[in-house]
Amino acid sequence: GVPVICIDGPTASGKGTVAAKVAQALGYHLLDSGSIYRATGLAARQAGLAIGAEHAEAIADLARTMALRFDAGRVLLAGVDVSDAIRTEQAGMDASLVSALPQVRTAVVALQLGFRTLPGLVADGRDMGTVIFPAAPLKVYLTASAACRAERRRQQLLARGINAKIADLRADLEARDARDMNRSVAPLKSAQDALLLDNSELTIEQAVAQVLAWWQQ
Ligand code: C5P
Repeated sequence: GVPVICIDGPTASGKGTVAAKVAQALGYHLLDSGSIYRATGLAARQAGLAIGAEHAEAIADLARTMALRFDAGRVLLAGVDVSDAIRTEQAGMDASLVSALPQVRTAVVALQLGFRTLPGLVADGRDMGTVIFPAAPLKVYLTASAACRAERRRQQLLARGINAKIADLRADLEARDARDMNRSVAPLKSAQDALLLDNSELTIEQAVAQVLAWWQQ
């Protein structure tokens, strides 16, 4: 079979960065599953659909049919580079809303499974280990304290010239985590056989090294 490493965890835990570096180190493909929900949220907004249960079928149709491409680290929606547009705080909130709709989750299963190709895959998200790739031989649940995650998000935004308040960022990510953990389908939680990695006190390099060490065991 194709080897799969799952890295799940809450918002701004460093999953994206760690997953990308692990994939690079191993020469594996990368699935950033959050970007699928982010793109779906954007597509819904562009279509003028309010994101809620009343439009679940229509949004699921959008998710199933949207022309989403991943190319050299960029995300293209209908040929347009939306890499920056899907990274805003608003887009994160929209993604969290669309991802709570069961019809949308079902609509993007096949797309995600399609990433599992040789030589291997590193999949980053909330339900990679619990729902999408339950048989993966290595599942990591990556966390960090809320204070840490808010501070990292602040630094990321500062690097893009955006000066956000730490209290607002923390409130935002805690609201998103609460929704992700309490939804009825594929709630955010650690898979039973996941290894827990708290990177509050680790550098990115140390977290990557730990995942690679587990993989090589
Ligand atoms: O990881 P990221 O912040 O890009 O994900 C955006 C949102 O998409 C998350 O808050 C979560 O609600 C949703 N998501 C999900 N399942 C995944 C990946 C992301 O529900 N596998």
